[in-house]
Amino acid sequence: MKRCFSILLCLGISFSGFGQSYWQQEAHYQMNIDFNTDNHQFDGQQELTYINHSPDTLNKVFYHLYFNAFQPGSMMDIRSRTILDSDKRVGNRISKLNKSEMGIQQILSLKQNGEPLVFTNDGTILDVDLNKSILPGDTVIFSMEFKTQVPLQIRRSGRMNKEGIDYSMSQWYPKLCEYDRDGWHANPYVGREFYGVWGSFDVTIHMDANYTIAATGILQNPDEIGHGYTNVLIDSVPDRLSWNFKAENVHDFVWAADPDYTHDIVVNDKGPDFHLFYQKGEKTKHWEHLGEYMIRTFEYADKHFGKYPYPHYSIIQGGDGGMEYPMATLITGHRSLKSLVGVSVHEAMHSWYHGLLATNEALFAWMDEGFTSYASNRIEYGFFPEDFPGTHGGSYKGYKRIAKSNYEEPLCTHADHFDTNWAYGAASYSKGVVILDQLSHIVGQKVVDRSLKRYFNEWAYKHPNASDFKRIVEKESEIELDWYFEYFVNSTKTIDYGIYEISENNNGTQILLKKGEMPMPVEFDVVLKDGGVSKYYIPTVLMRGEKVVDPVVNILPDWAWTNPYYSVRLKHAASDISEIQLHTSGHIADVEPLNDKVIIPKKWDWNKHKLKLQIIEKKKKKKYKLQKFAKIKKVAL
Ligand SMILES: [Zn+2]
Repeated sequence: MKRCFSILLCLGISFSGFGQSYWQQEAHYQMNIDFNTDNHQFDGQQELTYINHSPDTLNKVFYHLYFNAFQPGSMMDIRSRTILDSDKRVGNRISKLNKSEMGIQQILSLKQNGEPLVFTNDGTILDVDLNKSILPGDTVIFSMEFKTQVPLQIRRSGRMNKEGIDYSMSQWYPKLCEYDRDGWHANPYVGREFYGVWGSFDVTIHMDANYTIAATGILQNPDEIGHGYTNVLIDSVPDRLSWNFKAENVHDFVWAADPDYTHDIVVNDKGPDFHLFYQKGEKTKHWEHLGEYMIRTFEYADKHFGKYPYPHYSIIQGGDGGMEYPMATLITGHRSLKSLVGVSVHEAMHSWYHGLLATNEALFAWMDEGFTSYASNRIEYGFFPEDFPGTHGGSYKGYKRIAKSNYEEPLCTHADHFDTNWAYGAASYSKGVVILDQLSHIVGQKVVDRSLKRYFNEWAYKHPNASDFKRIVEKESEIELDWYFEYFVNSTKTIDYGIYEISENNNGTQILLKKGEMPMPVEFDVVLKDGGVSKYYIPTVLMRGEKVVDPVVNILPDWAWTNPYYSVRLKHAASDISEIQLHTSGHIADVEPLNDKVIIPKKWDWNKHKLKLQIIEKKKKKKYKLQKFAKIKKVAL
């Protein structure tokens, strides 16, 4: 098993309990973008108002320059060509880009309150030395001029995606790195998670009038340009239009443009209106039903996970799969109805766990992808129950598969630093769902539901971390949960409870249970031959409490985690029992199901024999290989 040893890779959880009061930075962007569709380049002006709410004096700032990742020899290129199971959307494609196809973001000038600054362009990070330190409480204005070439689409953003969308513009502008309770997060971009400063955007895009633009925020001038919520036809269409979008209380801004977009507006009295941008045709025929599913999705999510606060949500054909942004998503559009609804529900639910509960995805990918998948599983189960056995069955399966391989890495691994894409995906999506659903086994589903709403209400528009979420569930349940998160986030230790031995004596039956690596509360049923069922619940001592259970359940004394065995005495004779079944809640990721159930043989001489189940103990861990993926490639550096 693996544990997070390095401090760098394990910022995930801090259980100090005496943290300073919460603060976060604030950034307001005003941008003017002059876009040339002939050479796919644009000139940009950015005025950024930055407020330092931290208690610290800042001598430097950093910006992300994501498009520079799309250059041969970039860190993203090398990473993609050396990782064991490279994403086939990237592969070695970056290494083959020529000068006119690569991404380039060049900073021409940068001023702090009107004074020119010295900066260093280090690949995808702009490293800026300040003339004057930013003191706690200070507001400064950074004025920047920059030039950008939009790359051929490799991953998420770029021009001409595989479905022929001209421009998918995500992570497209110089974006200030976040400085938070853990310090600066100036991670070089290698193709994964994002993090941004809370604030606002006022973006004007000047572009060829043939294009329709979809974006985060609200279009400010629909009547002037004849687009958006408007019946106004402008008399003579100029060669170029200036689209002005504003977005408040967001931490990022995405846009996309195509001359062939259809823009459908689905008005929704109960929540946001849905704006669908796609190229109409046979391959996008299911988009006409998408609005109905989105209305139901937001209705469910508002009720169970917290109220979506923005007036719009846009689903935009573009990108290379599905990716979330504030108030919008880019998805590929040539899909079956189920696939279209599935990706749209998932990306929409990111509005809660990325858009509003903006955890640092790099450090807590499981709190974003995992919680999002948990919510979308619940919603999609309502639409297509046949594809979601037990609601989260697929996620449990995905987690158990990697847990029994040699490839699992702890959830607290920084998203960029997993050894394989498989380990990242299984941790952040599958185990991320399991960690949340399994909480219902420990604290009960009602507490989980209450906790999710309280988490949203207390932490929306902030950057919660794992400890912030843990404390909410602890307060709602009055159960201690540090052990649960420490084991399940910081280690790859697995749960494997088993029925070890059954014997009969004059007083009844004795059942010996055995624990695996990780402590958990245990539930089991004893089914009698006459059809009766007795239910039992053993809390782990670490909980310092127990969940509310049905009155028919027998609550047994706590299991001290240091004891590998636990003995239960039943008054029934063993010969009256037909079977014993562990984990009746169904919400526990026990990795070895073979020792979870015993069917008592009809004829068993209890005077002579105990019933022993040790077969599992020595069973070898199943080994998975990644041979179907590429071998490690030799990269010429
Ligand atoms: Zn996702």
